[in-house]
Amino acid sequence: MTKKTKEPTLDFTTDWAYAPAPEDTKHISLKKQYDLFINGEFVKPNSKKYFATYNPATEEKIADIAEANEKDVDNAVKAARKAFEKWSKIPAKERGKYIYRIARLMQERAREFAVIETMDGGKPIRESRDIDVPLAANHFFYYAGWADKLEYAFPNRTPKPLGVAGQIIPWNFPLLMAAWKIAPALATGNTVVLKPAETTSLTALKLAELIRDSGLPDGVVNIVTGAGKTGAAIVNHPDINKIAFTGSTDVGKMIQKAIAGTDKKLTLELGGKAANIIFEDAPLDQAVEGIVNGIFFNQGHVCCAGSRLFVQESVADIVIRKLKDRMETLIVGDPMDKNTDIGAINSKEQLLKINKYIKIGKDEGAEMYQPSCGIPSKGNFCKPTLFLNASQSHRVVQEEIFGPVLTVQTFRTIEEVIEKANNIPYGLSAGVWTDKGSKIFNLTAKLRAGVVWANTYNKFDPTSPFGGYKESGFGREGGLHGLMPYLKF
Ligand code: ADP
Repeated sequence: MTKKTKEPTLDFTTDWAYAPAPEDTKHISLKKQYDLFINGEFVKPNSKKYFATYNPATEEKIADIAEANEKDVDNAVKAARKAFEKWSKIPAKERGKYIYRIARLMQERAREFAVIETMDGGKPIRESRDIDVPLAANHFFYYAGWADKLEYAFPNRTPKPLGVAGQIIPWNFPLLMAAWKIAPALATGNTVVLKPAETTSLTALKLAELIRDSGLPDGVVNIVTGAGKTGAAIVNHPDINKIAFTGSTDVGKMIQKAIAGTDKKLTLELGGKAANIIFEDAPLDQAVEGIVNGIFFNQGHVCCAGSRLFVQESVADIVIRKLKDRMETLIVGDPMDKNTDIGAINSKEQLLKINKYIKIGKDEGAEMYQPSCGIPSKGNFCKPTLFLNASQSHRVVQEEIFGPVLTVQTFRTIEEVIEKANNIPYGLSAGVWTDKGSKIFNLTAKLRAGVVWANTYNKFDPTSPFGGYKESGFGREGGLHGLMPYLKF
């Protein structure tokens, strides 16, 4: 058995970390009912409808959220259009100052954001605190810096904003995805109508409060809540110039069809099924940490999760033994406890989907392994799960599960693993663990994946572009590349 590890398995650092205790939730200011954020104020929905948002760990209702209909979306787009006329013309350095202010306010309210993110979404507080919220603030800091440097970013060209961006985000990194979308749009002089996912609207609505407090001109950012119909109303609105979508491949395809023939620009960040490849010369203990981080971080609700493990045959036994031992130490449970490694599955629906795949994996004949840990009797929880001896044709290998489920395959040669890693409809990310730089360069050139991590996994930074190939979508977010989808030249 490896030593029980209580320290975070992730090596992100922040100089403003804190450790909220469970009782901290008492000091979080949450309203009972949330309205739509349009033109700088919270307004009641025309639909007059609200839906509940729940804490997936306790199954308790947290608040009611407004459901925006087409009229509400139209009001938000009109506000964004009107704001665009001014926002796109103010000096770029002034734009930058507003974005810096949002970043700083987010740091000041980091504790509140982290606790709400964990309550509403189910992710461990350690992750919200050390990863989601600091990274979200960093995205605003990073893109604030670009606001008055666009002509240096694109020399000899004259970058201009597109207009109104419609942005639709998923439930796995609610605040972070809002930051990924809003920060580059504002830095490039666009205005925004953003829709969070229906199970995790609260941090986006907190961000709306922050944006209002920041003094950002009215209508520059509008946040409308609702489910697929509200998203479709954004996609189909005739006065939207750009759609940025992160979510499932199925909905991404529907969006692409819906805007075909219009002049709307589109970026899609969709599903993934990443290969995490361990060579015999890799530092195996580190690789095991990387496997755990790759698949169990955020309960595996990560589009770039390392959900397919490939281990070179000569070290397969030892890696699998070490991995099982490490899984025995993982703590599954209360997301608000800072020692928890694996929190709650985001929704009942998602838990059903994961359990359906666990059954499929067993029926297909792969050997299932789960550690002996218990899971809470109430709430949406799932044990970390391995499928050993999986084969390339298994559905659990081919399809995105979006949960703490890892398939394990072995390989002998580098050619074989490249072939298997690429033989999948997705192409978002991959991981490579080896002592040899030459192998890393060989693989990064041949793996059809937008992001390839070497001897690490799930490392994110605002300066690095992120995005996929094939059914994982197109367009890049982050870095200099992340400015381009919001500009015309
Ligand atoms: P998941 O399967 O991970 O829940 P979805 O793709 O269904 O991902 O959801 C991602 C985002 O897309 C959410 O904000 C959701 O409300 C939104 N959405 C769902 N259906 C549509 C649609 N038809 N058009 C636009 N947005 C949609």
